[in-house]
Amino acid sequence: MTTTTTQQTSASAPHEERRGAIELRGVRKMYGNIAAVDDLDLSVEPGEFVTLLGPSGSGKTTTMMMVAGFEELTSGTVLIDGEPVDRLPPKDRNLGVVFQSYALFPHMSAAENVGFPLRMRGVQRGERRGRAEEALARVGLAGLGDRRPRQMSGGQQQRVALARALVFNPAALLLDEPMAALDKRLREQMQDEVKTLQQSLGISVLFVTHDQDEAMSMSDRIVVMRDGRIVQEGAPEDVYAHPRTDWVANFLGDTNLLPCTVLERKDGEAVVDLGAWGVGRVRDRGAKGDAYAVSIRPEHLRFVDADRCENRGSGRVLSSTGLGATIRHRLHVGGQDVVMRELGTGSRATGGLDSEVTVGWSPEEAQLLVLEP
Ligand code: ADP
Ligand code: MG
Repeated sequence: MTTTTTQQTSASAPHEERRGAIELRGVRKMYGNIAAVDDLDLSVEPGEFVTLLGPSGSGKTTTMMMVAGFEELTSGTVLIDGEPVDRLPPKDRNLGVVFQSYALFPHMSAAENVGFPLRMRGVQRGERRGRAEEALARVGLAGLGDRRPRQMSGGQQQRVALARALVFNPAALLLDEPMAALDKRLREQMQDEVKTLQQSLGISVLFVTHDQDEAMSMSDRIVVMRDGRIVQEGAPEDVYAHPRTDWVANFLGDTNLLPCTVLERKDGEAVVDLGAWGVGRVRDRGAKGDAYAVSIRPEHLRFVDADRCENRGSGRVLSSTGLGATIRHRLHVGGQDVVMRELGTGSRATGGLDSEVTVGWSPEEAQLLVLEP
């Protein structure tokens, strides 16, 4: 996929007004008496890359289908660039769509597939061919326009689908797990390329994945969904660093949860009683609930001298596993098992299995959160 912007079609000239804002207001979708999507408020700013991240069945695809116009809303409204589109058929919403299955026409060449949305819009054959070739070049498939889908690899077919979504210069792209069928290496490569393409075109993207790494690496903003609702949203590093609940902390990476009693909350910090881990100071974003814990990521625990760290616990080493660039230690500290990740290939800090260790953390790297019932 090329990263240059020089081959843009004239219709996407840079002086054009910024567009591609998507807004959902109070959107709900009922299937029988099940709310697949429940009272969703969501916005994508022009040029923004927003990802819906959630487990299977959390309502991501249903949300995309309603924005694209393939599913009707039970209630609420969808706006594109400020205009309600609820009465518009999909092709009049000006959105480029790539869904899980690329759904290329097997009997058409790549160029014909890419030109198809233009044909639907009444563009003449000669111009179609030229614009399809341009779109194919933009996704790194210059010269392959005559191939049939079955003569192309999975990655190439995925690029054809992307070119087809871009060819009519849409206001925004909707991508629903477009890389799910690709192997890990290719998926990572495509992630980089889609991100680069998005930035060079300045196009807004609403993206769906259940893969937290994909969401973390590509998004300006992550919207975490569970059971048809948004449970948290923010910049990737913000959601990772400040999960509001144990569910979000666990869904977005590995974490250690230390149950605690809150003693004091002030100025974004809490003083908490961690039982056998002592009394410590942690970050606090003010989430309210019936039960609390402190979340500490495995990479934020480190071996410390017993008297040199305010927040700490002592215990024993259960196992240490080398993972190449890091070592994973399983420890039993303060009556519970915790996981710690240490950079490097050999640990000097432990005396081996069952040796005594003290681990500590900094207040800036531990987050108070709500334990969900
Ligand atoms: P995701 O994309 O996050 O995996 P979906 O949006 O596909 O989730 O599904 C959300 C919920 O809606 C699930 O419980 C699913 O079973 C249900 N659902 C989706 N489509 C339909 C349908 N056409 N009929 C009935 N239930 C559906
Ligand atoms: Mg889905």
